[in-house]
Amino acid sequence: MKVIFEKSVAGRGMQYLPLCDVEEVALPTHLIRSEAPKLPEISETDLSRHYTELNKRVHGVNSGFYPLGSCTMKYNPRIDEEMAALSGFTGIHPLAPEHTTAGCREVLDTTGTLLCEITGMDDMTFQPAAGAHGEFTGVLLIKQYHDARGDSKRTKIIVPDSAHGTNPATATMCGYTVVNIPSAPNGCVDLEALKQALGDDTAGLMLTNPNTVGIFDENILEITRLVHEAGGLCYYDGANLNAVMGVVRPGDMGFDCIHLNLHKTFATPHGGGGPGSGAVGCKAHLAQYLPQSAMMDGAGHIQVKAFAGNFLVVVKAMTYILTLGKYGIPEAAKNAVLNANYLQTKIKGTFEPAFDRICMHEFVLDLSKFKKETGVSALDVAKSLIDNGMHPPTMYFPLIVHEALMLEPTETESRDTLDWAAQVFRNLYELGYKDPERMHSAPHNAQIARPDEVKAAREPILRYQG
Ligand SMILES: *Cc1c(COP(=O)(O)O)cnc(C)c1O
Repeated sequence: MKVIFEKSVAGRGMQYLPLCDVEEVALPTHLIRSEAPKLPEISETDLSRHYTELNKRVHGVNSGFYPLGSCTMKYNPRIDEEMAALSGFTGIHPLAPEHTTAGCREVLDTTGTLLCEITGMDDMTFQPAAGAHGEFTGVLLIKQYHDARGDSKRTKIIVPDSAHGTNPATATMCGYTVVNIPSAPNGCVDLEALKQALGDDTAGLMLTNPNTVGIFDENILEITRLVHEAGGLCYYDGANLNAVMGVVRPGDMGFDCIHLNLHKTFATPHGGGGPGSGAVGCKAHLAQYLPQSAMMDGAGHIQVKAFAGNFLVVVKAMTYILTLGKYGIPEAAKNAVLNANYLQTKIKGTFEPAFDRICMHEFVLDLSKFKKETGVSALDVAKSLIDNGMHPPTMYFPLIVHEALMLEPTETESRDTLDWAAQVFRNLYELGYKDPERMHSAPHNAQIARPDEVKAAREPILRYQG
């Protein structure tokens, strides 16, 4: 497929700029271009076809099932986009006079209040642009708290091995030493290992709950109690709040701060690189360290992004929460959990769950036995799913499960879709024993089959070279 610049024909195209309705003024000469910008010149029909063709080549939530674990690829209601597109929101400037931005402040305040209620926190900032950025901000709160008390021996952050990979990365970025603790056989935090790791050098614990194997830690209250007893603080990775929103609150579980991925749970589509929002909430004792999200009154506070962060993402989150309401939010979480358990149960008997128990919003399949018997890997299964019109699940993650496939169906899928998906998995299980070669060479119908992922990561070509 040609890129749009190759389709350009000089002189063709459309000029829909409105007539100038203000007095024309001459620009200073140093600001004037010496040559025209290189924009594609293309007719409206060809432009429309170009983007429709591109659209056909990607798999999004609007084209089919997308059970990418830990990513919550759910349907985002269009009304949220409509609200974020209102000119009163898109046309503002962060330095605009305060009396002209009162509505936007109200959005920030309202959304903050709603999310505090949902999480059990006392204050919230919308500055961080993504989940990992929120973690960074949250752990800095912990750091400032200990620093302010002159408690300088706390140099370690404990991270269970079932955590999201960004957790240890964050703790390291903030200058902490990461203490990794193993999971117990049931997928939860090993309490004995935690007790051994805790000490007067513990700054805090970072926990993903439900964790990356889709399990809600049944000892959660004991875990936060132990950390506090040792003088540490508890950080809740709430990127996947989809499973618990409106049902249980991290604040009630004993956590001191949290980040949320508004671009997973609260209606902003993601996967294309943003914009996102890693809102950070905290309890009152950390609130004084929180970056100020209100427009200009952040003086004296750490700033992790300019002004109020990605404001339009907050508009979407507010619309989403107010649309679903007090009863809709927990209903969505319960359906997310129900859908995951339904799919796990329907697949069981072929590919087996890594932890055979009730899951939360996602579950992990362990394909090591299947691979041993057929030679077909989790990667081969993932690639074969593409031929069946399904986006592959998250692969080889979490690291504690070998040949892992991690599925998160989300609440926005119907029972028919889940039945279909389970059947596709069951069919591929059989195919693995009958015709493994077919799966080694999958996908057969995709635009790109098996790119060299290491090379793509190490030597990315980010510019089109005709
Ligand atoms: C997605 C995710 C993150 C990171 O969020 P980004 O917006 O991609 O930076 C962190 N923790 C968990 C558990 C996640 O699922």
